[in-house]
Amino acid sequence: MVNGKSTMSRPERKHKIKDLTDIPGVGPATAQKLREAGFYSLEAIAIASPEEIAGISGISTSAAQRIIATAREALELGFKTADVIYKERLSVGRISTGSRNLDRLLGGGVETKSITEFYGEFGTGKTQICHQLCVNVQLPRDRGGLEGTAIYIDCEGTFRPERIVAMAKATGLEPQQALKNIVYARAYNSDHQMLLTEQAKEIIEEKGNVRLLIVDSVTSHFRAEYPGREVLAVRQQKLNRHLHTLTRIADIYDIAIVITNQVMARPDVFWGDAIVAVGGHVLAHVPGARVYLRKLKGNKRIARLVDSPYLPEGEATFVITDDGIRDE
Ligand code: ATP
Ligand code: MG
Repeated sequence: MVNGKSTMSRPERKHKIKDLTDIPGVGPATAQKLREAGFYSLEAIAIASPEEIAGISGISTSAAQRIIATAREALELGFKTADVIYKERLSVGRISTGSRNLDRLLGGGVETKSITEFYGEFGTGKTQICHQLCVNVQLPRDRGGLEGTAIYIDCEGTFRPERIVAMAKATGLEPQQALKNIVYARAYNSDHQMLLTEQAKEIIEEKGNVRLLIVDSVTSHFRAEYPGREVLAVRQQKLNRHLHTLTRIADIYDIAIVITNQVMARPDVFWGDAIVAVGGHVLAHVPGARVYLRKLKGNKRIARLVDSPYLPEGEATFVITDDGIRDE
């Protein structure tokens, strides 16, 4: 080190940085403060904001910016050639929904490194699908799982461990173990929901095998707390920040994020489909697949893939049974 600057060339430096204390500018005291605040790894630093890091460690915002840039560089979060991206895409994990039809529609299941949104009216199966994914993520890869664990952020109080037990039994998993592999929190308002998302990062860092993060439902608190048109901008801004955090978690930690959303009737649409997802354009521009669920007869449901970055639009039917989500 000369004048506090690294004398190593960039590629050389990249391979030397494996831990917080390897970052130039992060001494033992700063590293300690960061760890205490839950920033254990380069990944956590890479997706933090300069203000966050500065606030925690007491260093200047510009120094924090340099630290974040170094962490990103070490993790190779800059430009890459498309063949590298292609290889990374091949390593994307997929979690089965329990229905082969629905899996096929999604290109093999719910993907890691992206956000999948299920939206539809009450009783269309959004929460049941979330439960099923929490069970299925634990399965071995050849059975549609990722041998991983799940985090469940419940904004509506509709998580039922009994359903996990039933679904686990039906898939041959030991129910008590299946329950232990799901970390649950109830979110009481939108700020709490956003705080829990931050805390989820810490759990992900500590556990290491989290492959699924559920937010059911992502918009209900925002919708209740910011009802009128005059607060729409604030609501969308906050929701946007929340979704941005989720997108980064998906990407950096190789996790499947599954969010659910209610629908509302658009009073300004007279022809065509007047039913739209709550949240409007903010959710529409989050990368990932959006799946619109509708009821058919009895326990039968139809899913429509509305917006995928690479899959064709299409439909699939499935049923909700006592054992979970299945094909007819
Ligand atoms: P909301 O918008 O109200 O949250 P949702 O889309 O989350 O609705 P779910 O709660 O996932 O809807 O689905 C409810 C449906 O699942 C109901 O039709 C119910 O009959 C069915 N269901 C729930 N538990 C079981 C069970 N044990 N066996 C069979 N079907 C069940
Ligand atoms: Mg629900």
